[in-house]
Amino acid sequence: TRIMVFVKTLLRRSDNFMYIVKKSELAKKALLVDLVNEESYGELAEKEGIEISAVLTTHHHYDHCGGNEQFRRDFPKIPIFGGDPRVPGMDNHVKHEQEAELADLKVVCLSTPCHTSGHICYYITDPSNTNHGVVFTGDTLFIAGCGRFFEGTAPEMDRALNTILAKLPDDTLIYPGHEYTVANLKFAAHVEPANLKVQEKLKWAESQVARGLFTAPSSVLDEKLTNPFMRVRSSEEIQKTLGGNDPIEGMAKLRELKNKF
Ligand SMILES: [Zn+2]
Repeated sequence: TRIMVFVKTLLRRSDNFMYIVKKSELAKKALLVDLVNEESYGELAEKEGIEISAVLTTHHHYDHCGGNEQFRRDFPKIPIFGGDPRVPGMDNHVKHEQEAELADLKVVCLSTPCHTSGHICYYITDPSNTNHGVVFTGDTLFIAGCGRFFEGTAPEMDRALNTILAKLPDDTLIYPGHEYTVANLKFAAHVEPANLKVQEKLKWAESQVARGLFTAPSSVLDEKLTNPFMRVRSSEEIQKTLGGNDPIEGMAKLRELKNKF
């Protein structure tokens, strides 16, 4: 069997994801992605049987780093990575394409400003093999959607989704910051009704949620086939819906339509 980067998904608040990332299921050394809540991270480590090597924060919104101050008190010496001085407790300010080896894994920081100006996605692979990696996309890329453009522009979100993230290998698994998949796929079906892959994934996502299961992870290939924001160049139907084929105008229009949907 292929040894793959191990990810455990933890739900916090109603639809926020926090992640534990390890080299393998049995590994002890772990990374935590996005500390949503104030909670005892010592207890979490004990319960999960992990030794925390570092915290990776995607962006400064409270529902992605609300636990950082508590973590800093629990573990004064464990580094907290982020791309924005507004991230509480951050002691490693990372830049685009900066790399680090943490918990026996290779972490590549990808700067994706738009939702917030300091947003970072983290692409993680196992340096001991060539198996697929995983990427934590915070509020930049959601399954079948993307975050709101609070501090950025359509060209920036286009670059984040359609240059930076689209360039990762197609089998890269995508772990977003929220469970928004069903609502996103309903919008995808609205702007691209003939896309059967969207219809199929919507049915699957609804059944997952109904059974109390998550819709993450997705993959880069899956997003290229179903995420309208990643199809502004490839889908004639979306271009027809938007009344033009300029990809940047398309991104802006899609975001406006989604905000009102
Ligand atoms: Zn956010």
